[in-house]
Amino acid sequence: MERDAERIQTIRRLKEEIYGEYGFFYYVPMAESYTVQIPVTVSCSYRRCLYCDLNQGMAFRELSLEEIDRNIERLRFIHETDSRPPRRFLLAGGNPFVLPAEKLLTIAEKVRNCFPSCETISCFARADDVLNKTGTELNALRRAGYNRLCLGIESGSDSVLRYQEKGVGRAENAGAMDALDAAGMGYSAYIMLGLGGREMSAGHVEDTASLLNCAHPFELTVVTLVLFRGARLVEKVRAREFKRMTSLETLKEGRELLSRLTLSTVWNATHKTNLFPIKGKLPEHKGLILRRIDAAIEEMSGGEGLKRHELQRWQNWGVE
Ligand code: SF4
Repeated sequence: MERDAERIQTIRRLKEEIYGEYGFFYYVPMAESYTVQIPVTVSCSYRRCLYCDLNQGMAFRELSLEEIDRNIERLRFIHETDSRPPRRFLLAGGNPFVLPAEKLLTIAEKVRNCFPSCETISCFARADDVLNKTGTELNALRRAGYNRLCLGIESGSDSVLRYQEKGVGRAENAGAMDALDAAGMGYSAYIMLGLGGREMSAGHVEDTASLLNCAHPFELTVVTLVLFRGARLVEKVRAREFKRMTSLETLKEGRELLSRLTLSTVWNATHKTNLFPIKGKLPEHKGLILRRIDAAIEEMSGGEGLKRHELQRWQNWGVE
């Protein structure tokens, strides 16, 4: 009993040592929230997207291999009594895939040495992080276990990406997905509803659908624009330059996007930023999802239903 209490205390201290630098708000991909998370970078190397405040002003930092080693050892201690050895791992940070291929391969080797049960390693990636690697490097990374990248596409529209200062355009997003396909590396594509506001919504839908219909992500992670207090987009909204969509409008935008998709993948709109969470396989469940969304739109168009959903949705978020 005393031993258990001591172990719990030790694990608490180790977790503080491992994740303390990330601060209060620590963003991980939804699908990877139950994986073993290994800090390798802090913040994002880009940090200029207009709508983003995920890094809370923190400077970008690459952890040294010694620091990463120490964290992996700490995690080994934490997980050594797990009933099932962990199979899935996540490199934590805004875009750890920015690291050079050599460093990513060394990290994968360290993970496998400590956790022979490791099957996949995931992390957030920007399109330019992928394009900065050669086909040979991407192949080597896939063989080393990098097989569930979370690629921040957000939109297929150059106007939207330019306005939001994403730093990459449609061509880079398409090129990155092609490069991952060529390397056989699995990835989920993140898409953000409402990112073009009211004025660019039609183009956002049309261009995103045409981009995705030529791609092969194993999943589409659909999220909705959240106006974080620290994001520069707030100023544009206050100045009435960016016309935010209402939640119901973003749900309709998502419906419109889904109706145009012809690819085989998973539509995963269960992220808590979405007004109406729903997930299903495409194309098999497309008709069913559309009908459910239509029913939700009808129910929420009344007012009270929408208010109830909104209250549940925004609990615990630091938003405008
Ligand atoms: S949205 Fe992603 S790429 Fe853009 S600044 Fe934020 S963490 Fe970096």
